[in-house]
Amino acid sequence: MNLALITIGNELLSGFTVDTNAAWIGKKLSKIGVQVSIHITIDDRVESIVSTLKSVSDKNAVIVTGGLGPTHDDVTSSAFFKYFDDTPQFSEEYWEVLTQRFLKITSTIPDLNRNQAMIPTKGTTIPNPVGSARGLQYEKDGCTYFSLPGVPNEMKAMMTESVLPFLEKKSHHNLIVRTIRTTGIPESALAEKVDIILREHPDVSMAFLPQLIGVDIRLTGKIESKISSCQHELESELGDLVFGYDNEGLENVVGTLLLKKGLTLSVAESCTGGLLAHRLTNIPGSSAYFKGGITSYSNEAKMKLLQVEEDTLERVGAVSSETAIEMAEGVRKLLKTDIGVGITGIAGPGGGTEIKPVGLVYIGFSMGEQSYAKKFIFSRDRKGNKYLTSQVALNMIRLTLKK
Ligand code: AMP
Ligand code: MG
Repeated sequence: MNLALITIGNELLSGFTVDTNAAWIGKKLSKIGVQVSIHITIDDRVESIVSTLKSVSDKNAVIVTGGLGPTHDDVTSSAFFKYFDDTPQFSEEYWEVLTQRFLKITSTIPDLNRNQAMIPTKGTTIPNPVGSARGLQYEKDGCTYFSLPGVPNEMKAMMTESVLPFLEKKSHHNLIVRTIRTTGIPESALAEKVDIILREHPDVSMAFLPQLIGVDIRLTGKIESKISSCQHELESELGDLVFGYDNEGLENVVGTLLLKKGLTLSVAESCTGGLLAHRLTNIPGSSAYFKGGITSYSNEAKMKLLQVEEDTLERVGAVSSETAIEMAEGVRKLLKTDIGVGITGIAGPGGGTEIKPVGLVYIGFSMGEQSYAKKFIFSRDRKGNKYLTSQVALNMIRLTLKK
């Protein structure tokens, strides 16, 4: 099934409002096997809306959001009535419902709201369980058109209750979507590595979705067995580069591995300021394996809380492999855990030198008899460097636990 999505609003075009409706709708539709083949954002003018509806009339369905409010800048209903050559009727019944709703909050209902009580004669209305603006639904030449409010929570409620169930029934083939999550390899290198597999699976479409924390490979297709065989080939080609699937984060994966192995973890963080501990504790039930974290930002805190040697700090500095190891060992000893991680670095934008540039990070790791540190140089902004550091630290833990 082919669908067009039209988001309406001057505020979307000027950039004052981010079009979160489109992202939400796209995700929900892909889950029920409906593909958005075109997405257009237009202004609040009847002529724009009518001409855009015409331009997508070859699709099986069209979803429109925005412009259903009671004010003069909300013209989507008028445009729909014009496009479908419909003469709406005033519904006394719905006007009464609206009046009662308003009287609960204020003493009168503005006349402006009367246009929300106009109902189509050629189409139907879509109930709004959380607001006053009802939606519109029309059929024309094999295409179903939906008009929904722009207010995100109203749009979502109406999509969930009415539009998605309708489209799910109408769409014959369920599209299967599977996401393979990788980290530690750039998008281009990843694409090169899997190029042959991609060519050998014409029934599976493969999209590369790069993010700060890694690259997702999204597989879509209609036949489960073909998706699975493509997935297995990718997994054996990529090995440890694959860390999880679908919405799984690296913190979930690390949590599951620690639980499975019955091991405990503590972390000592300098430049990440507690971000690693934050990510670990975002997972429900993490208290079973995560014992705690120390944010030791100053040298004093590193010495007092983690027993980092003054001599080490003077000799090689706080951003060094030795300090990272002493932090990992210190927190491990303090919190009596199986694994200790220590992070120290320069997140930027200031504080770098020629020898120790911005983005330089050491991650220390201590487990059993073994302690070591790895050096990284990241090149993002401050927040990006912090996030990448937390990702790489989680990946170090994952790779060690998988051995
Ligand atoms: P409307 O139905 O056009 O009156 O929209 C009401 C409000 O919903 C707007 O002021 C925006 O804040 C919000 N809104 C409209 N369209 C979108 C969209 N595509 N994504 C996110 N928010 C939206
Ligand atoms: Mg609007």
